[in-house]
Amino acid sequence: MCDACGEATLVAFADLGDIPVLCGVHWADAGAAAASPVGRMTLGYCPNCAYVRNLAFDPAVMVYDTTMDTNLHHSAAFQAFSAELVKHLAGRFQLGGKRVLDIGCGQGEFLRELCHISGSTGIGYDAMYAGPEGADPSGAEFHSGYAPRGSALPEFDVFTSRHWFEHITDPYEFLKDLREQAGDREVYGYIEVPDAVYDMSTAGWEVIYPHVSYFDAYSLVRIVERAGWRIEDTGTLFGGMFRFIEVSANAGDRPRLGDQPIPGPAERERQLAAVKGFQERNASEQKRWRDRIAELVEQGANPVLWGAGSRGVQFLTFADADQRLAAVVDVNPRKWGRYLPVTAHRVDSPSSLTALKPSAVIITNPSYQKEIALALRELGVEAELLIA
Ligand SMILES: [Zn+2]
Repeated sequence: MCDACGEATLVAFADLGDIPVLCGVHWADAGAAAASPVGRMTLGYCPNCAYVRNLAFDPAVMVYDTTMDTNLHHSAAFQAFSAELVKHLAGRFQLGGKRVLDIGCGQGEFLRELCHISGSTGIGYDAMYAGPEGADPSGAEFHSGYAPRGSALPEFDVFTSRHWFEHITDPYEFLKDLREQAGDREVYGYIEVPDAVYDMSTAGWEVIYPHVSYFDAYSLVRIVERAGWRIEDTGTLFGGMFRFIEVSANAGDRPRLGDQPIPGPAERERQLAAVKGFQERNASEQKRWRDRIAELVEQGANPVLWGAGSRGVQFLTFADADQRLAAVVDVNPRKWGRYLPVTAHRVDSPSSLTALKPSAVIITNPSYQKEIALALRELGVEAELLIA
């Protein structure tokens, strides 16, 4: 049964085969990286609300721990976006003196900044959190592990959850539990996920094993309302790649905080159209990039990939499993000299490009185009930037 609307059975529409499970992990040893687990990606959609989910997802293989590195904060564009969001939420929910729960806090950058700017206190949970546990001077405290469910969850005034909701196997139960814990208190929430229409309308580099669910405007509204929350605002962010929803409980009859219309059933159509063409688009993009890389190699262009995050890993899985690219580079120093899952590409520092002199640099995330172009100029590399 559909987790979002609870009214229909999902229908399979795309099979991407076996893909890397641990796309946020890197290994010291190429052999261990090559032998890392794969899992099946079989996408299904709900004909009623357009919610999309990996029907073949196996929670037993997808284990989160502190060796994972899905941190986006190394990018200047993401940092700037996150800083703006902190300011917005501090005002929006009048956070001064309030208690914020951040579920899926990553390495804590966002919650720390939120507490610092707004004068709130915070508790962050993440199984990937690798920093010191307990209270920190910003007013935030951190726990390495999943957030508890039920009455074990600390009392809160606001919850935030950025890029975690799509990883959960039971998103409806998660929201319902938070609503139950809110009781009759006035509570607010902010959820941010990848936008499914973006992911399903493009090549599919963001269709990665850790993402169990893919929410578009309407299915996100459905699941939130079904779990008993009121919608305050919703929309897209970060060049359309992300989607957010602001929710409340017990806000009385005060007007909504946002002024955008709440997406209705008509919004489904974009997602249903994207779903319809997805399998074919994904297959043709895989082939197009394999051919393009072969052509660039033949021309002596030394093509490289810039960006070894989860999108990069998925691109390499689909388009360069035979390692024809001259290099893979990333700005995150924790990845340098280490190997990516399954395809076992080694990740180098961007500074290695000065000697390699590639004339083609492939990126998979258009949001980072400006900062990568600038970095290439600073490195003295004259290369064509290709957006996959
Ligand atoms: Zn549904």
